[in-house]
Parts: sequence; structure tokens; C-alpha cells
Amino acid sequence: MESQMRHQIPATLIPGDGIGPEVVAATVQILDALGSPFIWDVQQAGVAGVTHCGDPLPEATLASVRKNKLALKGPLTTPIGEGFRSSNVRLREEFQLFGNVRPVRTIIPGRYDKVDLVLVRENLGGFYVAHEYYVPVGDDPRAVAVATGVNTRDACTRIAKFAFEYAVKHERKKITVVHKANILKVLTGLFLEAARDVAREYEGRVEMNDVIVDACAMQLVMNPWQFDMLVCTNLFGDILSDQLAGLVGGLGMAPGANHGTDTAIFEAVHGSAPDIAGKGVANPISILLASGLMLDHVGKSDLAVRLRTAITEVLNTDQIRTRDLKGTASTREFADAVVRRIENS
Ligand code: ATP
Repeated sequence: MESQMRHQIPATLIPGDGIGPEVVAATVQILDALGSPFIWDVQQAGVAGVTHCGDPLPEATLASVRKNKLALKGPLTTPIGEGFRSSNVRLREEFQLFGNVRPVRTIIPGRYDKVDLVLVRENLGGFYVAHEYYVPVGDDPRAVAVATGVNTRDACTRIAKFAFEYAVKHERKKITVVHKANILKVLTGLFLEAARDVAREYEGRVEMNDVIVDACAMQLVMNPWQFDMLVCTNLFGDILSDQLAGLVGGLGMAPGANHGTDTAIFEAVHGSAPDIAGKGVANPISILLASGLMLDHVGKSDLAVRLRTAITEVLNTDQIRTRDLKGTASTREFADAVVRRIENS
């Protein structure tokens, strides 16, 4: 009992919106079967935050993450156009979660076998700083729309160092810096310049090259195996990480981790998928794999390996898959199957 207590790790759990509560419930059930160390403090955010507490990012949620420095977060709905600012973006800003890691790996052999890629996204700057406004002309108050992107040398250097350190730690050989320095010469030129400076410190250990974002998008379809790690500015990272998810079976297969200097929040790459919310058919693998990254983060890689092995066996040996993977299983049936595999491992 005492040794069990010693290994408990408090963490904030944000079920989120749309399919969030369904995939988070499946994840908690599976982590329980695994004997994970996490003790959950359940908090709300997004539309659920507004419903429960009248705030898309309630103070209680912030206080919990501040205390635990560790969270698993379901997707949070961001209203398109009008409405409150993204709670995802605000959480990243509040805890200065500058490094977003989005690994993808083929689990179900298919069109793209043996894909094994890690995308590192700068998480705080670029066009996400929300310097946007309209300029009225005549009687049209929205005649002109203006957005300003901001990249600082410090932030670019920090994300490049983060990516290279990740490469060294995880034995990755090559980093490709993604930019648009032919057009956004200043905004993404600085990103490329800073990355080149950092790369010099890692010469002989990690190789670096660079690619323009549009060419990168095409090359990812033609030959994704040429890449090992991608490091991207905020918006390009957002777009390309969905593309990476598409290489390995879709948004249901891609986990993400947001790292700051002392806080980390783990999440699925996908959004709240309102079209399938409440139907019990969502694929929980993305957030489940994110919980695996969370186990790695707290030094429980043995449990993370068991989790990933169980997922692989359920998908490929048991052939139990949710609808997005051309199967028929519900979220619950998939989760039960993973639990069975874990219990027999
Ligand atoms: P956001 O703006 O928050 O990124 P979105 O609406 O652009 O959200 P998603 O919510 O990620 O994007 O959904 C895009 C599509 O992928 C939807 O059709 C959704 O049903 C599907 N999808 C996303 N996640 C899953 C999942 N876990 N399981 C099954 N289908 C999913």
C-alpha cells in the first residue's frame, strides 16, 4: 500500500468537448487496467467550461494545472470566426508550452507502411499571436483583414534547441526545417536562420536540411520515408501534423504533447469532432497514445510500451477497429479489447 502511494502522480484531467468525454473515459479505463500512476483531478475547459463554470478556461482548471504541472486534455471546441478565443491556445500561452511534439507511426499496415515521423511545432508564436484586425473602407467595416505574425529569435532558437535535444534523446538522425522563407522572408526567414545556427552545435550528431512548406506537403505524400523529424512554425506545424495523421490512418491515430519548461499537457491532435460526438463511435487511439507519451514523460516507459503493444494487438491481431479505421467497433468495445490484452500481457 505504502509503495503504491509513493508512486502516485497527481495530474489534471480535462475531458473536453464533443467526443472528448468519450475518448477520455476510454483512456482512463485502459490506464486503470494498466495500473498507471496518475491520480486525476477532473477539470473543465472549452464549451464544457462555459457550461459548468461560465468560463472557457476556468480559474480552477488553471490552478489545477499550475499545481500538478501535468495534464491530459480532451479536445476543446473553438468557435469559428466569432466567439471566445481558443482555450487550447490560451492554455499554451498561460503555461508557456512552447514545444509541441506530434509523433506518428504506422500501426496498421496500409498505403504508407513503416512511417515513423516526429513533427515539432513552435507553439506560441507565428500567426497564433492573434494580432488581427479589420480596416473599414467606406460603409464596409470589414473591407480589409490584417493579420500579423510574430516570431522572435529567442523563440525560434528555443524551439530549434528543443527539437535537436529531442533528436539526440530519441536517437533521431535528421531534422528538416519547414519554412516559407522565399515569400515570408522575415517571419519564417528568422526561423530558418535560428535553426541553422542551432544546427551547427549538433553537427556530426544530428543532420539538418530545410524545405519550403508547399514542397514539404507534396514530398510527404510522394515519399514520407525521406523525413525523420520536421520542425515547423506554428501554423505550418498545425497543418502538416494533420497531414502526418493522414499517413497513418487519420486523425484518430495521432497524439500530441505540449511542453514548457516545467509543465506538460498531453492531447489528441484531432478536434472535438462534433459530427460524431455522443454516438460512442470515436476512435480513442489518439488520446490513448498521448497518455502513452505522458507515461514516457513521467518515467513509466514500461507501461507505455505495454499500452502501445496492446493497441497494436487489438488492431492487427484481434482486428477490432473503430469506424474511421473501416471497422465496426464502438469506442467502448475497442477500449474493452485493449483492457483484455493488457490483462493478459
Ligand atoms: P478543430 O478545429 O478543433 O481542429 P475540426 O472540426 O477541424 O476540429 P476534428 O474535430 O479533428 O476537426 O475532426 C475532423 C474530422 O475527423 C471529422 O469528420 C471527425 O469526425 C473526424 N475525427 C476526428 N477525430 C476523430 C476520432 N478520434 N475518431 C473518429 N473520427 C475522428
